[in-house]
Amino acid sequence: MRRLKNSEKRIRRIVIIILVTLMLGSLEYYLVDDYNNARENNNNETIKRYESSYGILLEGYRMLSKTYYDEIIKQEDVLDIMKEANTADENRKNELRLELANILEDTYENMTENHFRQFHFVLADNTSFYRFHHPSKYGDDLTDVRETVNIANNKKIYVEGFEEGKIFNAYRFERPLFTGGQHIGCVETSISFVTVIQLMDKKFETPSLFIIKKSVVDEKVFQELISENYEESRVSDLYYYDKACSEYIDNTGRYYDVISAVNKDSDKLKEINELIKKGETFIVNFKTNNKTYSLVFLEIENVAGEQVGYIEFYNEDVEGAVLLKGMVVKTILIFVLWLIILIGILVFARIQDKLEKISYLDKLTNAYNRYKLYDFIEEEIERKRRYETNFSIILYDIDYFKSINDKQGHLAGDLVLKESVKLVNKIIRGNDKLFRFGGDEFLVLLPNTELKNAKVAAENIRAMIEGTEYYYELKENITFSMGVAQYKTGESSSELIDRADEMLYKAKKEGRNRVIGE
Ligand code: GH3
Ligand code: MG
Repeated sequence: MRRLKNSEKRIRRIVIIILVTLMLGSLEYYLVDDYNNARENNNNETIKRYESSYGILLEGYRMLSKTYYDEIIKQEDVLDIMKEANTADENRKNELRLELANILEDTYENMTENHFRQFHFVLADNTSFYRFHHPSKYGDDLTDVRETVNIANNKKIYVEGFEEGKIFNAYRFERPLFTGGQHIGCVETSISFVTVIQLMDKKFETPSLFIIKKSVVDEKVFQELISENYEESRVSDLYYYDKACSEYIDNTGRYYDVISAVNKDSDKLKEINELIKKGETFIVNFKTNNKTYSLVFLEIENVAGEQVGYIEFYNEDVEGAVLLKGMVVKTILIFVLWLIILIGILVFARIQDKLEKISYLDKLTNAYNRYKLYDFIEEEIERKRRYETNFSIILYDIDYFKSINDKQGHLAGDLVLKESVKLVNKIIRGNDKLFRFGGDEFLVLLPNTELKNAKVAAENIRAMIEGTEYYYELKENITFSMGVAQYKTGESSSELIDRADEMLYKAKKEGRNRVIGE
């Protein structure tokens, strides 16, 4: 099998690392995708839960308001007062107001205990007759401000829905009043959003707030009451907070941390601010130091179906936290796996390099063995082809080496081989390479060197070896016979070596301990 060059090996490793990274990267991508889907499902479920909680709450109040209407409000005394009030003069109206207040005083008290806020009688011409929640305000025309009153009085049908009023906003249950078939006005029983917020707190321990469009409040509420009932919202310039709701939540003293965490997070506020502009129900996920929340903004529409506000629920997102944790743990695992594979590849590469290096070094002398020789010569031939740089080789053989083995034994012979390699390696240039060609025969590859200089180099080696004494049991001197050849264009590596071998043969024949090259 052809051995891979270092550059090829590096490329192969990089490709493997890229492939592993891509594989684990796509695994992570699908994981994140899966997580996002799960989170989205979870978010949708959360929204549904709040929508249905709100729906069920309204259903309860719808039934309760109908019970007040059927069982108490529709009593004869009340209807008589309303009938007369439609035509009475101002003095008489004042008397009738007092009478109505007397009859229904206890009922109103009971209603407030059930968290109703408005209890309002309106005459058939849409003028306010008596507000139990604000007895000093009456006589004002509601035609332009109160769509539910218009519908109940003009169409003479029951109507319900959220509506800002002259004093408070409310979810209103508006019912027409009749006596003996004659329409005499309408009555409203309404709940405020404090009711919703209180229930969410008590039943689910979930803080919530109510925000309403400034434009709606500014247009409808008595000017002097705006600052009394509303304050700037922190989530949008276009909305007020309903003060009663905020105060209720503040007074519980339990939700300061989460609400202030959101208020301090300017990025989250920006995100909310943008989403609010769309006027649709939405949810954003939010993380404080130790808890995960989702903020559900439940769209509130007016009677005409236009979005005018939001209930903002701070939902503790237990499932979201579990999903997030799972995803973080899996991501860490994937990263660790990637790291292990990466380290594995690098360690394996190192071991492979080491093994390969060992495989092309001669065990005894640490010179290169023949294994790599032809690769290196091929490289030089390629260089010659490209850059016209000449190179040469020296093939040398120890003279009468057998006699060292014979006289002093094999170990002494081994020592001489090792020592001589060390010496030769010291004297040749850094980019020259020394190979053990076999037995006591060695080859030096001299890149960028012409015959003349190669012969000088060989001569230096020869002289240095000749002058060196080797010790084992006896003092020994050795000599080299050396053949030198410069590469000739067109020849193969074996042809080059053959030529050097011929020179070496000549050196031996001519008396040994000499350099021959042509
Ligand atoms: P010549 O001058 O003609 O080269 O004579 P020579 O005695 O060196 O003969 P030759 O080169 O043919 O013999 C080489 C000897 O080197 C033969 C073998 O016993 C010995 N030899 C080969 N490899 C090793 C080795 O790894 N260790 C030892 N100690 N001896 C070796
Ligand atoms: Mg020899």
